[in-house]
Amino acid sequence: MLNIVLFGPPGAGKGTQAARLIEKYNLVHLSTGDIFRRNIRENTPLGISAKGYMDKGELVPDALTIDMLQDEAAKHPHAKGFIFDGFPRTAAQAEALDNFLAERGQDISMMIALEVDEEELKNRLLERSKVSNRSDDSDINIIKKRIDVYNRDTAPVADYYKRQNKFKGINGIGTIDAITDRLYSVIG
Ligand code: AMP
Repeated sequence: MLNIVLFGPPGAGKGTQAARLIEKYNLVHLSTGDIFRRNIRENTPLGISAKGYMDKGELVPDALTIDMLQDEAAKHPHAKGFIFDGFPRTAAQAEALDNFLAERGQDISMMIALEVDEEELKNRLLERSKVSNRSDDSDINIIKKRIDVYNRDTAPVADYYKRQNKFKGINGIGTIDAITDRLYSVIG
């Protein structure tokens, strides 16, 4: 099993790169942001709960997020592995993920962080808002809030994987192809 946590701040390129990695390594892509947005479109109770947090650039509470992630992962019993994109975003989520995988005799193979500076992130998100139709991308104050939440709550999750010797950081600036090549060489 190859279970990868693709890590990085909003706008780092996790979704774009995940789409390539799932092709090459035959993995299942689990993006919590995408799953929340699907639930919002379908107007499910989960989507209704999540929307209020997402619109403000805040994290959806751990309990809701962890339950949802576990339900989604359980839909793929024959997966060769997963790319977790946008999850875990808190220490509690990282622990829950380890426990969930351990119950299945699995673990995280590695966390790969896409490293991008804040100016570049803001520019990318504003640019993305022209095509993404995401209200949380089009308002600079919400973007700043998301980056603050990342720095405060999510960046420390890297330490969790560093302690397990599973952390690898790569430069997330450059062409999409160049970054994909960096990922391939880290994964091997
Ligand atoms: P993303 O698509 O990863 O940028 O996520 C969009 C929004 O969904 C975030 O700003 C959060 O409000 C919410 N979200 C996505 N993943 C998580 C998570 N693992 N924990 C809490 N909230 C999340």
